[in-house]
Amino acid sequence: MSAADRPVALVTGGSRGIGRHVVTRLARDGHDVAFCYQSDRTAAEAVAAEATAAGARVHAVRADVTDHDAVRAFVRGTEKELGPLDTVVSCAGIVRDNPLVMLGEDDWDAVMRVNLDGTFHVCKAAAFAMMKRRRGSLITLSSVAGVYGNATQTNYSATKAGIIGFTKALAKETGRYGIRANAVAPGFIATDMLGELAEDHLAKMTARIPLGRLGRPEEVADLVAFLASDRASYITGQVFGIDGGLVV
Ligand code: NAD
Repeated sequence: MSAADRPVALVTGGSRGIGRHVVTRLARDGHDVAFCYQSDRTAAEAVAAEATAAGARVHAVRADVTDHDAVRAFVRGTEKELGPLDTVVSCAGIVRDNPLVMLGEDDWDAVMRVNLDGTFHVCKAAAFAMMKRRRGSLITLSSVAGVYGNATQTNYSATKAGIIGFTKALAKETGRYGIRANAVAPGFIATDMLGELAEDHLAKMTARIPLGRLGRPEEVADLVAFLASDRASYITGQVFGIDGGLVV
């Protein structure tokens, strides 16, 4: 595939976890890839090297998704370096768990800023150019927490439910311009994020998963890669659970 033929994908939070696997999977599928990361440059360099080895051109940038100008600069820089965007994956996310009565305003605000504002920032920065080209796939990361709520996660659940509403509205706004917008709602996926959960809580939750195990980030990346591809050309405005059957 020549550089001109390669679709371009942009991923937030690409240095580890699900985002890392999305970047490397899309690179293997023939995309050029841009990703941003918050702080871990060594991890970002390792991801970039893996994507480059798969044949992709790579643009990796340190950018905080809560900063609208930084996200805008990341999107514009990617368009300049790699060309117009075909796919955007809003993956950056955090948890700050506590029961509501103990939840501080800082922890409420931080989760809103990264999960919800971050998704708004990247979709807003990318959508107009995609609309002009009349093609594109916007993929957001929701969660089972946004579908059925998790105790101790009122903040996180609110953002992940918000992302579902955001994505459905975006699908309605942009469909006539050839853009698809879909949300992925993972269950318990084995990444650093689960390290924040108490072990006994995780064991209890795992026992409730019909497939009897945690998910792997590669499995979420497979679903994202499908939604990015033309095989999903008639799918928009949907929420895809990937949770081993936890929410049925
Ligand atoms: P993770 O903690 O391994 O990775 C999160 C990524 O987001 C990291 O790369 C981090 O650097 C980035 N990030 C955080 N704050 C950022 C900021 N301000 N600016 C830029 N990047 C920032 O988590 P993960 O499990 O890979 O989660 C990825 C997405 O999937 C998140 O949106 C998360 O809510 C969602 N999700 C994860 C699970 C799970 O069980 N792991 C379940 C449901 C949904």
